[in-house]
Amino acid sequence: MLDYPAILSEIQEVYLADSAPWVIGFSGGKDSTAALQMVFYALASLPPEKLSKEIHVVSSDTLVENPAVVKRVDEQLGEIADAGKHQLFAHKPDLFNVAKVTPKLEDTFWVNLIGKGYPSPNRWFRWCTDRLKIKPTSEYVLKTVNHSGEAIVVLGTRRAESSSRAATMDNHAKGGRLHRHATLLGASIYAPIADLSNDEVWAYLLQAPNPWRSDNRRLLSLYVNASGMGECPFVIETGTQSCGRSRFGCWVCTVVDRDKSMENLIHNGEEWMEQLLSFRNWLHEIRQETAQHVPKGVDSSPKFGPFLLATRRRILDRLLGMQEDLDVELISPAELDFVYDLLQREAAGEVKQGPREFLLKLGDERRLKVISDFELLAAGRRRLGPTHLTHAELLRTRRVSSDYARSTRVLYYVQ
Ligand code: SF4
Repeated sequence: MLDYPAILSEIQEVYLADSAPWVIGFSGGKDSTAALQMVFYALASLPPEKLSKEIHVVSSDTLVENPAVVKRVDEQLGEIADAGKHQLFAHKPDLFNVAKVTPKLEDTFWVNLIGKGYPSPNRWFRWCTDRLKIKPTSEYVLKTVNHSGEAIVVLGTRRAESSSRAATMDNHAKGGRLHRHATLLGASIYAPIADLSNDEVWAYLLQAPNPWRSDNRRLLSLYVNASGMGECPFVIETGTQSCGRSRFGCWVCTVVDRDKSMENLIHNGEEWMEQLLSFRNWLHEIRQETAQHVPKGVDSSPKFGPFLLATRRRILDRLLGMQEDLDVELISPAELDFVYDLLQREAAGEVKQGPREFLLKLGDERRLKVISDFELLAAGRRRLGPTHLTHAELLRTRRVSSDYARSTRVLYYVQ
């Protein structure tokens, strides 16, 4: 049963225990709303002089979020900033910050898919979550850690989301609700509503007035209209469940076979999203067609390499056409410039594709700038990433195995 006073008192205890700033993940979904709402209530009942450490409410925008959700999250971030600075932290408004994090230009969905040719993500090659979500949020947390020495990331994660989630929460402090982050040094995770059930979260949201004056019944109606599945969480750990199986994930998500949430939103009045859905379905279809991909290997079955240049141009044309029709920004001008540049350079032959012969012909001290790390794994599966290598270094360190060089494609600029 929901022990509301115990949760609030634990939140106060954790907040007062040290000087580590809090980074509260806010996705606009019910769980992060409930967690943030409880933090507001818990802190509001402390004397102002005890509210002396920073709070950062951080929302991650993949730049391909479902537009119905983006609008609502943006509205709420403004309301949260207002309530945090002018009510909760009226004595020291600078301690309360609201931020939105987005992927770097070279990591965005369109730059990777159209510019570099990454095939639409699926369960086996889900290259997106790390670039679109984990990296931007981790960078924010690390910046906070660098500045303050440590940080506590407060999440709306719940055990009931999945059994693997429950298992990873066991054996930690406060019944698993507080634990060190596995890889971000200096960061801990605190999940104050970890033990609540789905029904308890809804009951709480519908009974307790929202402290930043948003209407939680609107949130419920968004869920009812999208009907049926889990939500897209604020992701900061690779173990967190993918948002691919959820509503409120990226509108382009092809990790799921069908985007039932978008289908339901359309059915419930958002007819304008039909074009988005049909584009997503098309991306999902061409992912399965070998003719759309660069043959992956000499020996292996030729499928599921990067998308062909012609395919990527078709994707871009269709995306731009839809953007014009709908009058909604689907790809930013900066992404578009970057994508055009990559496509042009590839078409002009400045970008060399694949691999072995090209690597071996580079016999002088010219350098390679590797601009895509598409399956670029060194021996031992270390990620090489964008880097500069001379041919001699490549051979000497054997950082690119001959198997790798034969079996995949990398984009190189010769310098
Ligand atoms: S919602 Fe889908 S496309 Fe977006 S990051 Fe998650 S898995 Fe990738």
